[in-house]
Order: sequence, then C-alpha cells, then structure tokens
Amino acid sequence: MSVREDIGGSPLPDGWAAPAHQPGAFELPTTTFEERAHRTMARPFARRAIAGATDHAVSLTQARFADVDHETLRDQGRQIRAHAIANLPDYLEQWIANAEQNGTTVYFAADEGEARRIIAGICVDENIASVVKSKSMASEEVALNSALEGVGVDVVETDLGEFVVQAMGDRPGHVIAPILHRTKDEVHELFSKMAGRDLPNEAEELTAFARAGLRHAFLTADGGITGGNFLIAETGEVMLVTNEGNGRLTSSVPRVHIALVGIEKVIPRRRDLAVLLPLLTGHGTGQQITTYVSITGGPRRDAEPDGPEQTHVVLLDAGRSALLGGEFEEALHCIRCGACQNVCPVYRQVGGHAYGWVYGGPIGAVLTPLFRGQAEGGEVAQATTLCGACDDICPVRIPLHDLLLGLRRQRDEQGEVPRREQMAFAVWGAVWSRPWLYRMTTAVGRGSLGLLARDGVVSSRVPGLRRWTDGRNLVLERRRR
Ligand code: SF4
Repeated sequence: MSVREDIGGSPLPDGWAAPAHQPGAFELPTTTFEERAHRTMARPFARRAIAGATDHAVSLTQARFADVDHETLRDQGRQIRAHAIANLPDYLEQWIANAEQNGTTVYFAADEGEARRIIAGICVDENIASVVKSKSMASEEVALNSALEGVGVDVVETDLGEFVVQAMGDRPGHVIAPILHRTKDEVHELFSKMAGRDLPNEAEELTAFARAGLRHAFLTADGGITGGNFLIAETGEVMLVTNEGNGRLTSSVPRVHIALVGIEKVIPRRRDLAVLLPLLTGHGTGQQITTYVSITGGPRRDAEPDGPEQTHVVLLDAGRSALLGGEFEEALHCIRCGACQNVCPVYRQVGGHAYGWVYGGPIGAVLTPLFRGQAEGGEVAQATTLCGACDDICPVRIPLHDLLLGLRRQRDEQGEVPRREQMAFAVWGAVWSRPWLYRMTTAVGRGSLGLLARDGVVSSRVPGLRRWTDGRNLVLERRRR
C-alpha cells in the first residue's frame, strides 16, 4: 500500500481554517539583546517552561548515554565531521554527481536571496500552488515562507511545533523544540480560535485536531519542502529525521520534493550514520533513534508506489564556504542537535528569541555573527558566561567556548565594541591586574554590599543594582574565618 493510500481520505476537521502564514520578523539589528531578553523574562511562565523543558532534555540525554562509551562515540563523531568539512569540496562534488545520477536536480545558492529565487522559481515553473513543509532551520535562515507567499504559494508547516509557530506568527525558540517557550494553554487557545469552537484542552485532542488538518494538507499539496540532516556523498542521498513522520510524508506524497540543505551537511558514507545518528538523536531528544529516519534518493522509480515525480535539492552556502580553512571552521561541524542550548545558563533564562535571528544558545551566539556579520550579529557572542557547559555536551566536540572568545576578539578588532564598553574593560583590566588594587576594590565592594543586604540578601529595590536583582536574588556568602 502506498503512503497516500495509507493516510488517504482524511477529512478536514470541523471549522478548520488555514493558519496565518506570515512569520514573525527577525529582529537583528533593530533591537538589542537586552531588549529581546527582557521580553522573555517578563513572561515568568516562558522562563519556567524553558527551564523545565531544557532540564528534561538534559536528563534524557544523560540517561541515553549512561550505558555506552559516550566519550569514544563523541571522538568518532568529531573525526567524521572534521574529515568531511576538511574535504568539503570533494565530498560535495561526489554527492552532486551521485544525486544527479539518481535523477535529482541540484542547484547551488550562494546566498539567502538566491535560495529564495531558486525555490520560488521551481514553484512557478512547476505550477505549484501549495506546499507542505517539514522543519528546516535552513529555510528559516532564508525566510523562505515569505518568498513563497510572494509568488502566490500557500505554505503549511507540518511539524506540530512549527505549525503552532506559523499559526501564531511567531519564530521557533529552539533548534529541536520550536515551541519550547509556549504553553499547552496557549496552543489550546490558538486551536480553539482556528476551529471556531472550544476544543478540549487535552494534548491528545489538540494534536488530533492539527493532525486531521495536516493530513488533508499532505494529500492536496503540489509540493513538499524539507531540509536535510545529512547529505550522503557516496550515494547522493538526503537523510531526514523526524518523530512525527511529517518529513517522510512531505518528501514522498506531493508530486515535487524540494530540499534546502546547508552545504556543510555532507558526510562521506552511509556507515557514518552509525555514529552520527545516535549522537544526533541522543543529544537532541534523548532517543536511541527517532521514530522516522528517511533516506531519500531522488524521484520515484518505475514500480515504486511512493515518491515524488521530481526531486530538487538546493545547496545553501550563505556564509558557510567563507569559514573553510579559517579560525571558525569548526562551527561547520555542527549537527544541529540543540544540546548546547539546553545546558547554557544564558539561553535557559532568556530563550531563543533573545538572540534575534534563527539560532539561539551557544551555537546561535557563534553562527549569528559568522553568518550575519559582526556589525549586525556580533553582540550575541557576548551572551555567554564562558562556563564551558556547551563544550562539555557537544556531541561532535565543537570548542564553542574558544569560538566565542575568538568572535569577541574579532568584534573588538573590527571596531564594533561600543566605546563605553572598551573604556570599562580598560579600567577594569588596569585595576585588577594590580593585586593591591584588586584586594582594595573587592573589599570595598564586599563591604558596600554587606551594608545594603538584609539577612544576607540584596533586594531588588536597591537602586543601581536592579539590572542584576530584578531577575534573581543576590545572596551574599558569609566569609569563612
Ligand atoms: S554546537 Fe554541538 S551541541 Fe550545539 S547544536 Fe551544534 S552539535 Fe549540537
């Protein structure tokens, strides 16, 4: 039985109305990190939701690797990614040759605008009026939905989280869990509004409502747009992981499949997945393997019941090749598992939107200045405590801490550090590099805080300290004698 027959006949749920399509706008460089962070911090529930979800994700990851030689697996993952990126032109060439042999049409997009033009052009040429989409951070990077709507194509996001994001006119808040910052009550309110009636506020009922509408979308869409977790050079295939099956439906039910994939996603061999897949799923969701792992190798062949009539793959550069051979090349090793976000003490307080662009957390603080430039995105590399928790969890051992320090140095060299910040650090450096001044200023600081504290806690009412104490308690530790 074909997939289409298997899911066929899904009626639209009562009252179903298509979601609003316009995504929320990226906020770089019109707002500051502080302004964006304040917005999340002003929603106490969002902060609790982010902390709860990230704690849960970290414990799932720890449990997943409790019985395996995790460190050796990470070493192997690093080796594979480092080898692939060091030989990227060769492996890309191999992937393209094999993909074309499989019947895939391959395009190269040098930047975001070119990616939008190519995909919109395919839709116009192939008379595609509607597309279903599975989660793709690359498509977020190029703001694809707006471009498609600009040429009259209806877009429906089919990952449940992305569907909610789209219907709310929001942006994903996490690489793996786009609505980490949203509550079930908010989803209930949204779906009830879409249905025109009060739906039961139960996860199963809400999911069933979305599922029925999405199944109809799969069956009626002319095109399906996906990202790709890996490009396998030796076979010319694209690998996709999902837990909802939407990636498989998107790539196999509509007559045209278009995949937008970053050039850095290439890996040499299928057998590399034996290492990278458990690292990706274990660090992403704590699973041994995701519910669906799909490897697509071109359009449907004779006698195959499923698959698109055409497969197009757009390889996205958009700043990636400029990193090859340079100080920040290791950023290209990233497999987008989201684990560094879960452990980052800054991300856990402010969430993904504070970073102003597509990626949040440590990897966002690295990729945003690299892909958007220091003038626009350099500020977010400051949004880190340099605690190193991200280095400790990264499945492919990206030295995020070193990359962040390098980006901070680069920002300074490019003259993007505000004058008052330069002066503050110059004074701080001059004072704390002299032991007697260090001892004197810390003693004065400790004494002043002692005078301001009540029962060892400095309250949020103390002027001048509010930016610290509004969001957390400042508890003074007693000096040991
Ligand atoms: S930097 Fe490492 S931990 Fe963060 S998303 Fe990429 S692979 Fe995962």
